[in-house]
Amino acid sequence: MKKVLVVDDSPIILSMLKIEIAKYNRMEPYYAKTYKEAFRLLREHKGKFHAALLDLNLPDVPSGEIVKLANSHGIPSVVLTSKVDEQVQKSLLKKDVLSVILKNDHASIKVAVADISRTLSNYDTTVLIVDDSKLFRQILRTSLEKIQLNVLEARDGEEAYNILESSKEKISLIITDYEMPKRNGLDLTLKIREKYQKDELAIIAISAVETKDIISKFLKFGANDFVNKPFEHTEVVTRVNANLELLDLFAKIRDMANKDFLTGAYNRRYFFESGEPIYAKNKRKETPMAVAMIDIDKFKNINDTYGHDIGDIAIQEIKKILDKNLRTSDLMARFGGEEFCVFLEDITIEDAKILFEKIRKAFEENVLDANGTKILYTVSTGIYYGFSISLDEMIRLSDEALYTAKEGGRNRVEIKS
Ligand code: GH3
Ligand code: MG
Ligand code: MG
Ligand code: MG
Repeated sequence: MKKVLVVDDSPIILSMLKIEIAKYNRMEPYYAKTYKEAFRLLREHKGKFHAALLDLNLPDVPSGEIVKLANSHGIPSVVLTSKVDEQVQKSLLKKDVLSVILKNDHASIKVAVADISRTLSNYDTTVLIVDDSKLFRQILRTSLEKIQLNVLEARDGEEAYNILESSKEKISLIITDYEMPKRNGLDLTLKIREKYQKDELAIIAISAVETKDIISKFLKFGANDFVNKPFEHTEVVTRVNANLELLDLFAKIRDMANKDFLTGAYNRRYFFESGEPIYAKNKRKETPMAVAMIDIDKFKNINDTYGHDIGDIAIQEIKKILDKNLRTSDLMARFGGEEFCVFLEDITIEDAKILFEKIRKAFEENVLDANGTKILYTVSTGIYYGFSISLDEMIRLSDEALYTAKEGGRNRVEIKS
């Protein structure tokens, strides 16, 4: 959650903003109707606001004073105004103002809030600028930092690729020049696309060579977008934000396809898609792996006693407890109702036993507070350890072990190898 200061003296606009902001779960809004109220909020939460949505004209101060105030706190702002004056707009954009929006209808409110949302996401987004000109990198950096992006720089295509491969932060966007001494922008684009898809890493090409040929080549080689040099700050920033927004949308769609809606855990389809290559690699080396099937004991009783909604919370709790205990490299998915499957490589049979025994205990000791109802439940786990003949077969064998665990009295870990 990131704190956003919202100032407007019109109750109608304020209520429209409230409705719009509620659609974003990462925004924590603080509302003010006057300069005085905003001043107090800024002092109370000094250094805590990540962005502001400001009405240019407020009843208790001259026009624009509120923007100066947010500016003095270093808070990037979107300014709402009821009339656009070119001169005022220009001078505003020189400050920490992201955009100036005419508040005439509902659509403009939506745009303003979307601008804020994008800026908040930018705080956690990294962009790499690739250009041999230091001056140009500096100009671009200033524009990008204004919209709160984290900026890395490279002097040529070769350095850019090395940074991309070694950076600890995930790079979302590369803005590259065309002509550079070591590896030009086109070569860099080609090389990047051997490994990174267009929907996970965006490339914007920037070039002074205004030939159509280069533009179309860049796009053919896998660039997402193109900007000509020299460019306007507003154009670059708008294109950068639009491309980042698309990446987020792609990620959302990927999540919807790969994840289960109730728990956020991966689904069966994703489990096989990413599990098969892991299985094949270990099988080739004859390295044993573990597949564990975890199932809530007497889950029907929970549904029957407390209702389906609380049953759902119990299922969500499985994902949370597993997340807490598994390594990031372990593949976990929801297979069915209250049944989860985990696929682990690089693990000994002893460690697999210890891990799932620890998980069993975590459920046994957990008192789940489901909307005030305290419930206790246990899980049974069946593990297959080895490499068998296929991933499918490993799962079938872990299911057999689960059955044995249930037969043996539940709240147990059964391991087959
Ligand atoms: P056992 O100890 O043998 O596993 O007993 P159980 O009651 O857990 O048996 P079973 O696995 O057959 O029960 C699964 C139940 O889970 C049946 C079904 O109604 C319920 N269920 C399946 N999907 C969902 C879901 O998404 N939400 C909720 N609340 N219940 C679900
Ligand atoms: Mg150049
Ligand atoms: Mg069950
Ligand atoms: Mg079941």
